Amino acid sequence: MRYAVLGTGVVGQTIAAKLASLGHEVVVGTRDPQSTLARTEPDGYGNPPFSQWLEAHEQVHLETFTEAAAWGEAVVNTTAGAGSVQALESAGSANLAGKVLIDIANPLDFSQGMPPSLNPVNTDSLGEQIQRTFPDVKVVKALNTMNCQIMVDPSRVPGEHTVFVSGNDTDAKKQVAELLASFGWSESSVIDLGDITTARGTEMLLPIWLRLWGAVGHADFNFHIAGA
Ligand code: NAP
Repeated sequence: MRYAVLGTGVVGQTIAAKLASLGHEVVVGTRDPQSTLARTEPDGYGNPPFSQWLEAHEQVHLETFTEAAAWGEAVVNTTAGAGSVQALESAGSANLAGKVLIDIANPLDFSQGMPPSLNPVNTDSLGEQIQRTFPDVKVVKALNTMNCQIMVDPSRVPGEHTVFVSGNDTDAKKQVAELLASFGWSESSVIDLGDITTARGTEMLLPIWLRLWGAVGHADFNFHIAGA
């Protein structure tokens, strides 16, 4: 399958690498490929610049958001939550229409410093904003409640643990569940919460996730819903 992974951060890199390792064709999308490739500094978390990652993954290509979305049969949103709608607008609604869009982004608002707050929150979510802005897209919120290394390798966390799925389109959620199975998620670990409004709940797990990160001291943990 042809996947457009929109986003050049560590999540985009991790998802793109996993998809490529599974035999999918992958194009990563960015605002401006030239300036993305020209970055030489590590990102805010100390990860090496994107160009270094791309050199090590020569089967993956870098294009603009627009070109990537036009080419992909399915789209993964791994952009910063505050810029996601903007990134998808530049991808172009015609290029997204009819496609499954896996939304991994969280609407973290760093404008008031750390820890970040959420915007939107409570009565709205980024997943819903994206679905409202692009009504012809099949938005499936998933994987946003864990560190990206666990997204593609659930065995990093011992025992059964949970990945949530939210979206309006049943077939799209089935397609995403199949992809999750190929990433190593067991059928029983996937909880379908319902329509896209349920993304409010999974996005609102982020404040507790961030506090757990501080308390546990590492990111190799996940939520497990016992008795589900
Ligand atoms: P990030 O630094 O949050 O986002 C980088 C991407 O966002 C880049 O591709 C950048 O475009 C794009 N972007 C930023 N501002 C933009 C704007 N105003 N307009 C258009 N595009 C914009 O990357 P990340 O750390 O990999 O996280 C990606 C997403 O996954 C976030 O929403 C995050 O909350 C979520 N998430 C992260 C983890 C994790 O393990 N880190 C876990 C769960 C969910 P350019 O390429 O053009 O610079």
